[in-house]
Amino acid sequence: MFADLALIDGNVLTMDSSQPSAEAVAIKKDRIVKVGTNKEISRWIGKTTNIINLQGRTVVPGLIDSHIHVGDFGKFLTWIDLKDVNSIEEMQRRIRERAQKIPEGRWIIGSGWDQARFAEKRYPNFRDLDEASPDNPVILYHQCGRVCVVNSKALELAGVTKETRSPSGGTIEKDAETGEPTGILRENATDLVWKTIPEPSEEEIMEGASLACEKIVEAGVTSIHWIVTSSTEISIIQKLRAENKLPLRVYTIIPTNILDQTNGSHSLIGSGDNTDRNLGVKVFVDGSLAARTAALREPYSDDPATKGQLLYSQGELDALVVKAHKAKFRLVMHAMGDQAIDMTLTAIEKALMEEPRKSHRYRIEHASVLNEEFIQRIKKLGMMVSVQPKCVISEFSVWSAVDRLGSERARWLYPLKTLIKEGIRVIGGSDCPMEPLSPLQGIQAAVERQFFPEERITVDDALRMYTVNAAYASFEEKIKGSIEKGKLADLTVLSGDPRTTPPSKIGDIKVRMTIVGGKVVYQKLT
Ligand SMILES: [Zn+2]
Repeated sequence: MFADLALIDGNVLTMDSSQPSAEAVAIKKDRIVKVGTNKEISRWIGKTTNIINLQGRTVVPGLIDSHIHVGDFGKFLTWIDLKDVNSIEEMQRRIRERAQKIPEGRWIIGSGWDQARFAEKRYPNFRDLDEASPDNPVILYHQCGRVCVVNSKALELAGVTKETRSPSGGTIEKDAETGEPTGILRENATDLVWKTIPEPSEEEIMEGASLACEKIVEAGVTSIHWIVTSSTEISIIQKLRAENKLPLRVYTIIPTNILDQTNGSHSLIGSGDNTDRNLGVKVFVDGSLAARTAALREPYSDDPATKGQLLYSQGELDALVVKAHKAKFRLVMHAMGDQAIDMTLTAIEKALMEEPRKSHRYRIEHASVLNEEFIQRIKKLGMMVSVQPKCVISEFSVWSAVDRLGSERARWLYPLKTLIKEGIRVIGGSDCPMEPLSPLQGIQAAVERQFFPEERITVDDALRMYTVNAAYASFEEKIKGSIEKGKLADLTVLSGDPRTTPPSKIGDIKVRMTIVGGKVVYQKLT
């Protein structure tokens, strides 16, 4: 009856209100068997027990990311990162290194270069890239994202020659003497090459997803709500699991177009850790505030000509929602603007009227532009709000939410404290790769927001978003979300205690160890 693994001498934040803190945890197989003092846990230690002395480090329940695009993140990770490159020569070295690893013909994509940093003091050109990769097409984006350099192979595939005219809003840079394209494409001209790059193969997506999962456990995350973009990704999740390459737990959220393919049947998908009955389905009601495509009731304050973009009429949305509701899918509604949120709530109200259901756990993703009326309706419906707190920072600093929405609407942008005070379950996610992956950076953003600081929340409330509440969202509150006897041994070991760390430093706390089902899947103790 001894434990397989014992964590001792720790600062254990359990998120279990009946025993909020502890020193040690005993684990047998994939479950927690005891949480308590070092002395209590010592009774569980036998000859075969693996003991990890935490030396005072903090342990929290395995963190859960409720909103992550693993496919896109993986794609991004397979790009060459050129942010720290100081010469064209170094850039060539990295291209050569990549070209050696991949089959002939596969695209090499990179980003982050800046000619101002180059020792050569000039822009790179197609010749530089050809020297490093004659057989694989190459496209490398400047750090601004609106300029790129490509090689001959890429120009050839895109059909860009001496004769090709620059598209409107873009420039194909040409040699002053020969008239040949130099390889530098600006603004809309970058699309000429970008659009010829084929969709990645299943093998490539799988490589990317595998890499992404590694990064995710390094960030202390033990479970994810994987927002799937294609049916290929679903089979990739299944394959990764079958080949034992998934170091974490997955709750799958599928797009509506796959819902159509399944004819409303869950068993055709049967993926991830989801049981048949709780598969999430994501419905996009509008776009984003950043692109001014989030649907607002009144025009954008910084562009009176637009109110954003709805993807459905109310009637279409009602029909879609009721169909998914009756088929017992779990609705995950992407709605950012107040118009989209209003329509979402109306559709859910109607569906629940038609076929009442208590514990539906439907959620609104982002739910950016709220107001007091919406908050009451969300509360009444028992919906959850899924927020990516790093967006709170981006949307007030990268561009000005106050300019975009006016101060009255901006006041109700991600009102986390009000939502929590009203008893609405708020869950946390990253929206990676659009925003950084780290849940600790997300917690920091929620705790120290500078804009409308009256909506700051406590570290405990922020941790709850990434633990107990997120577990509830996937119907797994009995097995995840807190460090409790009988629950899965999913734990994250941190270099510091976020509750006693100055808010501005929470994001700097290091993940020292990630444990999933009693197995250490990531470890970096120094
Ligand atoms: Zn997203």
